[in-house]
Amino acid sequence: MSTVTSTPLPQTSAPLLEVKNLTKYFSIQGGIFSTEVDRLHAVDGVSFSIAAGETLGMVGESGCGKSTTGRCILRLIEPSSGDVMFEGQSVTQMDKHALREVRRDMQIIFQDPFASLNPRMTVQAIIGEALTIHKLTNNPNDYQARIVQLLETVGLNADHMRRFPHEFSGGQRQRIGIARALAVSPKLIVCDEPVSALDVSIQAQVINLLEDLQAKMGLTYLFIAHDLSVVEHISTRVAVMYLGRVVEIAPSRNLYTQPRHPYTEALLSAVPIPDPKAKKQRIVLTGDVPSPVNRPTGCHFHPRCPRAMERCKVEEPLLKNVADQHQAACHLND
Ligand code: SF4
Repeated sequence: MSTVTSTPLPQTSAPLLEVKNLTKYFSIQGGIFSTEVDRLHAVDGVSFSIAAGETLGMVGESGCGKSTTGRCILRLIEPSSGDVMFEGQSVTQMDKHALREVRRDMQIIFQDPFASLNPRMTVQAIIGEALTIHKLTNNPNDYQARIVQLLETVGLNADHMRRFPHEFSGGQRQRIGIARALAVSPKLIVCDEPVSALDVSIQAQVINLLEDLQAKMGLTYLFIAHDLSVVEHISTRVAVMYLGRVVEIAPSRNLYTQPRHPYTEALLSAVPIPDPKAKKQRIVLTGDVPSPVNRPTGCHFHPRCPRAMERCKVEEPLLKNVADQHQAACHLND
């Protein structure tokens, strides 16, 4: 296993965000009357909390529901059921006005910085839009000064203000996306695969920037990624998702050194290790992730699990405590 130097657990235990039994399904319509013929279960009973100042890494293959979870938290997608509590208030029950207010505190950074920035707007207009919407300044001098300050905070400068997104590299565009999120001084940022579209060398720079910003501003992150190597150093705790469910969640150190779910073990075996002489056996998972419309019976992971037993085909494992702050959903822990 690799050496873990993850962010220490924060002193405070008061959750900033609590996600309770969150579910999102998409209706599949069919027939001449366009009635519901099936459901795609994108998120299926997901629960977790994030303390202020903490980073929860959320990992899983494409289609496992991690991005849908992130968007449901901000209600960019309406959840089907369950609750999202932010500072003790139910986001899911909020009316439009309250939701707009709370969105100042909860921002999102998207995977593709080019697609998420309007190509017809200058950097000044992109970052300034949030200041205007939330009426954070109506003085033109303050407005300009705040934009310059935000650009400098993310490693850009005043010369970049009047340029358009296509004039920047991928890493710079992601910095613009981060400046836009920071414009409203949020408490929580959902980082939805923020480095997946970037070169490996640039990924580390953006992650370091996010870590610096967290230290300076006391930010809280839900950091979504598709592999464990990306979230290793930034996460306080890590949640592993498979087919819409959390199958393991633990403090980073425990998850990377003592995984308790075969899916986590497989993901970990794919994490490169810095020492070229050190040997690690790669666990290759056979087959693709099953369709979230026709999920396997019992443990949803059983058709791909190298350690599957007979009972796994029929008996669904529940997420339960396996160690301090460590939960996993696997019959091997019984
Ligand atoms: Fe594998 Fe069975 Fe554990 Fe599922 S419950 S992860 S199939 S061993």
